[in-house]
Amino acid sequence: MDSMCPVCNGFTAMQATCPACNQMIQDAGRLSDLFGKYSPYRPIDALKQTNGIAHDLDDRTCVHVGWCPACREEFLYHIGEWTGIDPAWHTIE
Ligand SMILES: [Zn+2]
Ligand SMILES: [Zn+2]
Repeated sequence: MDSMCPVCNGFTAMQATCPACNQMIQDAGRLSDLFGKYSPYRPIDALKQTNGIAHDLDDRTCVHVGWCPACREEFLYHIGEWTGIDPAWHTIE
């Protein structure tokens, strides 16, 4: 089941800024969707673990990928059911 992510459910747009340049980032989709698209042969669970963020991927947190067109970098944003967009972010290694 999907989490009750306010972005996935259309309650709010993903309004987050790039941690490097403070410009608005673009929502590139959910992390699981991204891995599903580009890594069809690898189990999602393995990807979570190799990225070191398994502890964040519970059913209350939705991880979205933000893309900064200025920096040409992708960042991860944790979006909780009640907390909104977590300002803590992670670069994708
Ligand atoms: Zn979401
Ligand atoms: Zn940027």
